[in-house]
Parts: sequence; C-alpha cells; structure tokens
Amino acid sequence: MNGSRNSVNQLAIAPRFLILPLLLLCLPSRAAAQSEADWSRTAKALTGSVFANSSTDNLRELCDQVGPRVTGTEAYEKASHWALERFRALGIKDVHLESFSIPNGWARGWAQSQVYSPIQRRLHMESVSWAPSTPRGGVTGEIIVVDDLSPKELRAKAEQIKDRVVLLDTEHAFAEGFNKTYPLLNASYGLLKNLGARGLVLNDSVPNQVPGDWLDVDNGKAEIQRLPIAEIGMEDYKLLRRLREQGPVTIGFEYQNQISGPTQVSNVVAQIQGKANPEEWIVIGGHLDSWDLATGCQDNGTGASMVLEAAKAIAALPFAPRRSLRFVLWTGEEPGLLGSKAYIKQHAQELSKCVAVLNSDNGAGHPKGWKVEGRKDLKQALVPIASHYLKDLSADGISMEVTFDSDHGPFLLHGIPALDLWVDDEEYEKVHHKPSDTFDKVDPIFFKTDTTILTVTAYLLAEMPQPIAPHLNHAAVGEILRKSELEQYLIAHGDWTP
Ligand SMILES: [Zn+2]
Repeated sequence: MNGSRNSVNQLAIAPRFLILPLLLLCLPSRAAAQSEADWSRTAKALTGSVFANSSTDNLRELCDQVGPRVTGTEAYEKASHWALERFRALGIKDVHLESFSIPNGWARGWAQSQVYSPIQRRLHMESVSWAPSTPRGGVTGEIIVVDDLSPKELRAKAEQIKDRVVLLDTEHAFAEGFNKTYPLLNASYGLLKNLGARGLVLNDSVPNQVPGDWLDVDNGKAEIQRLPIAEIGMEDYKLLRRLREQGPVTIGFEYQNQISGPTQVSNVVAQIQGKANPEEWIVIGGHLDSWDLATGCQDNGTGASMVLEAAKAIAALPFAPRRSLRFVLWTGEEPGLLGSKAYIKQHAQELSKCVAVLNSDNGAGHPKGWKVEGRKDLKQALVPIASHYLKDLSADGISMEVTFDSDHGPFLLHGIPALDLWVDDEEYEKVHHKPSDTFDKVDPIFFKTDTTILTVTAYLLAEMPQPIAPHLNHAAVGEILRKSELEQYLIAHGDWTP
C-alpha cells in the first residue's frame, strides 16, 4: 500500500529490532512491556470482547434517567457523579473530578412569543444559550430583516435598526460558510446593542418548527450575551418574511433564564496507569454535557458511553498497557470546548508527554474510520492499524478533514496527534441539538462497532513501542489551520495566535 511503508515498519518490522533495547531501557520495571505478538493478539481479542460485552445500558440510563445536562447546572452535577460511580464500578482506582470555574452558569427558563401585527399568532421561539433574560414584559418591536452582518452594512442601517427587533436571514448572511461568517455574528451583538436593537432573532432551517440550529450560539467563554437573542422555528420565520413583504410586522418575545454568576464545573477523569511508560499518556474522550431541549443522546451520550465501555474493556485486561490511559468525560463542550481547554491549561506542564487524543462526538453512526485532522504523517502511521485491525469493522477509512468542532480541537492546536472518530453522521445531523435527540435514535449495532473501534485503537496507541506520530510545532499547526480555512475563525474566537 502506497505510503504505508513507514507505518508497517513501525508496527510489524521495527519492533523485532526495537523491542529488546526498549525493554532493556525500561528495566528495572521488569517484564513491563508485552511483546508485539502479545499485544497484537490482545488487540484482536478486544475486537471480539468489546463487541460482545459492550452494552447500551449505560447510554439508556444516561439519556432516560439522568437526562439533559447543561454545563454549570445541577443536572450536569448529577450527571458527573453518575459517571464517577460508573467508572468506579469498573474497579478503576484513580477516578476523580477536575474542576474549574466558568464566568456564568446558565439555565433556560420559560419563553413565550407572538406576532402582534398585522396578525396575532403565537410563535415557536426559544432563547439561545447564555442569553440574558428579556426585560420584564419582554421585547417588542417592528422587525427589520438583516442579511449581511458586516459592521459597515449594519452601520448603514443604523436608523432602521434602532428600537427594532432584528430578524437575521441566516441563509444569506452565512452564504460564505459558517467558519467565515461566525466571527461576524459574534462581533455583531455588541454593535447591534449599541445601535439600539431591542433583540436579535435567528431562524432555524429544519421543518416542523423545531428549534436547535442556534441553541449553541456562543462566545466560547460562557459569558452572558450582550442582548436578548432568540431562535425561531423555520415555518414561523418564513411566515414573518412573507408578512414583511407586504408591510410592517411587529413581534414580541419574553423569556426568563437563570444566570448564576461564577460557577464550578468539572471534567470526569478515570486513569489507568501505564506499565512500562506511565509518564506517557493517551486521552480517550467524549463530552458529557448536552443541550437541554432533549437528552443529548447522539450528541453526546453515545460518545460519553463509548468512553465508559472502552474503560470497562481495558480495565478488565490482565496487563495494563505500556502507556497510561486517561478516560475523560468533558464538561462545557457545547458552550465552547470549555472542559478540554481547561484541561490543556491545567496539564500544561505534562503536555509534551501526551501521545494522542481520541475523541468521539459524531454519534453512533455506521463506522468509517478516523479523521486525522489534516496530518499526512498521522494518516500514514494509522494505515497499518486500519488495515490490520479495523478493516473488518468497516472502519479502515482515514479522513484528512480538519475540524475544530469538538474536544480534540484544543489538543490539535498544541500539535498533539488528534483522532476524531469518523462515522456516517446523517442520522446524527437530523437530531443534532434538537428535542428529538433521544435514545430511540441510537442503533445498538453501530454503537457497539464504534465502541470497538475506539477501544482497539486506543489500546494499540498505548502499546506500540513508539508514539504514533510526533508533536507538530506551532508553525506546522498554523499551516494546517490556514489550509483548512480555520485560522481566521480561531483567531476571532481567541483560540489561536499565529
Ligand atoms: Zn457534541
């Protein structure tokens, strides 16, 4: 296979020459590392045992019993203690919370909305996350439709924006793509407030008046939004647009959210100490937090439960792998990767020993393989794993797509090899952040297969004599971000300095 030579060397040929010196180096931790034949056999055996022994029981309990779990709420606290107990029940000794503070906890309260003229009718509307409550009595005003978020355009419309409710035409405003336009949206809140807008309304794009497209409108810092922002159902939005074609339209909305000020939140961590190289570590992560209109089952109950199942399988092995494994259930992914960013800060001193991060946050779809986040060297190194261990799980695909949409992102920015589980996300996208993201949407066969891929890959990365790939330096990471057109988005978000 083209390009696979180095990788095959690493997995199959090099160990014959390397394992002995490595073993000698590892003395006196006597017989610490397994031979290649041993760990290869273990990986194959794991493929069968994870598939046979994994279960959707934890996932079902998380979705149906624990329920929605927005970062910083009591519901998230409950979920994090549920997860602690689940890890402890596996017999893992080092299970703990790692806490940090966010500027504001936020919980959605009641909302109501209607069009006052030229007709009177209720509207399907919800607050977006971390939005302030509206003033008592709500926000009322004539609507102005905006389809260009550039500051120049907004200033040109200053007179029409004053004392109005801005209805954003997201289809046109985002025509140049999400990553390019999102910084403009974030920057527009302050400007709209200064121009005297009473509120901002964003439209959903999915039929049946189902909110969810914009629940996650965020500033990446859990700060309270500058003005009331709401999301409106697709059909109601289209109705308002048709009415507006014929004359002025006045709407109102009111919602009351709970804002709690600085709040402690926690990642849930379970660690298995490596036998030969315990100072080197691999993260197997998925976020535990969710949005609140549903139970966050595909996003990301599935990922969190896969991490629990992987921990179960690896904790049950007779030998701990060569390197340490850290199973992490992140908090704060939805409001802006807060948990993984905090983890990076809290572990800055030992990041050089982080060999890889594996992330699961695309739901339990038909398996495809792994996304290697734009790294050719990582792709080459992964080919032997894909072809020897993942092919028969329909998961030997390797995608070069670069994403910054989940908790592998902050690791990627530090040059750490990052693998994001790649699955068919068609079903996931249908329910993403929507009230319909519930347990009945999860196919147990896909869940078990995806869990197997995650577990076997994590185990192999923990056992291979050499780290899967080196860390990239800042310039090389910058190059990947530029090529994938993520650089400006990350700079605007405050996540990247070239
Ligand atoms: Zn997610």
